[in-house]
Amino acid sequence: TGKFFVGGNWKCNGTKDSISKLVSDLNGATLEPDVDVVVAPPFVYIDQVKNSLTPRIEIASQNSWTGKGGAFTGEISVEQLKDIGCKWVILGHSERRHVIGEDDQFIGKKAAYALSEGLGVIACIGELLQEREAGKTFDVCFQQLKAYADAVPSWDNIVIAYEPVWAIGTGKVATPQQAQEVHLACRDWLKKNVSAEVASKTRIIYGGSVNGGNCAELAKQEDIDGFLVGGASLKGPEFATIVNSVT
Ligand code: 13P
Repeated sequence: TGKFFVGGNWKCNGTKDSISKLVSDLNGATLEPDVDVVVAPPFVYIDQVKNSLTPRIEIASQNSWTGKGGAFTGEISVEQLKDIGCKWVILGHSERRHVIGEDDQFIGKKAAYALSEGLGVIACIGELLQEREAGKTFDVCFQQLKAYADAVPSWDNIVIAYEPVWAIGTGKVATPQQAQEVHLACRDWLKKNVSAEVASKTRIIYGGSVNGGNCAELAKQEDIDGFLVGGASLKGPEFATIVNSVT
C-alpha cells in the first residue's frame, strides 16, 4: 500500500517560541527513511516552519478554500498555500465537520480543487460515538468516502485518514481491531466503488489519541498505513516514536 505515512496535525496550537522549539526537536530527531512525514502547523506559522524545518518533513495546511482566491474574507487559497511551500492539505477533519459545520459537498469541492492544483489531500472521515453505538460506523464512513469519490477525478494524491470522532483528543484510542475493521471495510468500499487498483494503492491512516505507547500495536494491523496525530505531534520525540513505529 505504499509508504507508511505519518502526519502531525498541530491544530490551533502554538506560539512562535513553542513552534521554534518543536521544529528544532524535529530537526534533531532520527526518522525512519521509508516513511512519509508531514506536519500541519496553523496557517500563521507555516512560513516560519517552512523556513526552519528540515526538508525531510513536508508541510500541510489544515484547510483550504474551494477555488481561486479573491473576495473571500478570512479564507486561504490553494495557490497561496503552494506559494509558501505546502504540499498537502487536511480536509474533512471532524473539528471542521462537527464544530464548524462543513458538509460533505463543501469538503468534496475543496478536495477536488486542491487536487486539481497539485496539492495532496489528507481526506478525513469518521463516525461520532452515537453513530458507532447505533451500528452506523460503516454507513457513515462510506457516505463520507462517497462524497470524496463523487467530487475527485483521481485518487492518486489522496491519503484517507480514519479518525473516529470519539477517539479524537479523548485519550480513548480505538483498539487495533476496531481500527483495522474500519480500514478494511473502507478498502473494500474503494474496491467496489472506485477500483481494485485504488483500493490497493490508497493509504488509509488512523487518527484519534495515537501516542508513543499505543502506536506500535496499531501499526502492526494489515490495513493501517500510518497515522494522523494531534496532541502527541506537539512533542517532537514522541512524534518521532510514532513515525518510527512503521512495521
Ligand atoms: P489527537 O491525536 O489529539 O486525538 O487528535 C487526532 C486528530 O484529530 C488528528 O487530526
